[in-house]
Amino acid sequence: MHLTTRIKKSKQMIRLVRPQELTASGLIYPIFIREDGKKFEIPSMKGQYYLSLADAVKVCRQAVGFGIPAVMIFGVLKKKDTDASIALRKNGFHSQIFRRLKREFGDDLVLISNICLCDYTAEEFCVYSEKGKVLNEKTGEMLGKIAAIHAEAGADVIAPAAMCDGQVRHIRSALDREGYEDVAVMTYIKTDSCLFQPFFEAMTLSKTPRRGIDSSKFRTDIINEKMFMQKVDLDISEEADMIIVKPALTNLDLILRVKLKHPAIPIAAYQVSGEYAMIKLLGEYGHLDEKVLLMETLNSIKRAGADMILTYYALEVAKELKKRR
Ligand SMILES: [Zn+2]
Repeated sequence: MHLTTRIKKSKQMIRLVRPQELTASGLIYPIFIREDGKKFEIPSMKGQYYLSLADAVKVCRQAVGFGIPAVMIFGVLKKKDTDASIALRKNGFHSQIFRRLKREFGDDLVLISNICLCDYTAEEFCVYSEKGKVLNEKTGEMLGKIAAIHAEAGADVIAPAAMCDGQVRHIRSALDREGYEDVAVMTYIKTDSCLFQPFFEAMTLSKTPRRGIDSSKFRTDIINEKMFMQKVDLDISEEADMIIVKPALTNLDLILRVKLKHPAIPIAAYQVSGEYAMIKLLGEYGHLDEKVLLMETLNSIKRAGADMILTYYALEVAKELKKRR
């Protein structure tokens, strides 16, 4: 008789038969760097801190020490403007970040640039719009210009977060035109989700919802997996090198779908701010063990097919994994 208990005979046996395991080499640490240099705990994301550029260097050094190969950079500007043209400044804050980190770490750390109009617009809109319609081409063109500036400063990977159609096409052609054929595009595909809320508060220090156009016009419907896959197919047809599925926990099935349909494309899953906060708070209130819950969620994301995981817990997880080695 076939018994599954045979392959569960001991802890080492269980380890032995694992098809994949979480490793530091698949982790990406998202960090928030403030232009005003202030360092304090992010109120909506307990345990995570805004960093000055000098602090970011220290944190990145820790990440490299733990074997984490990449960071996702969020630059928090002192001042924004109405149309995001501030993003095109010569030697703007994002460029300063990439130059500094590239100088410090060279090829030891992959620098991923999150690019979205909301990083630069006072109204925090992600896309240009007119009378309630998303202006795909105008948004894509602007994202392309920003991408080339970040690539020039040292970004290794461009991660467009605006979710407009054509964003990858515009970014790819802008990068190629400017001589950055070796810079990859890692495109976000997001379902519309309340789990992004703590992140918005982190980027804006405001509890009020973002203004501009309704996000359901550029994100995908959580209920409709076909809409999600259409966007994946579109971005891959425009030469996206990698895909980020966001949020992770509510989209485990979508991670698997992307993996099955596009086995050659590396897939990242983003354990977003709301997922982070849920785990943190459940632990803090003593309802569940934070570390156990964290590892369970990360392993489920891995099992669903993610090659890489973006998580605010990256440093802690990598440290833990190093201890276990
Ligand atoms: Zn945005």
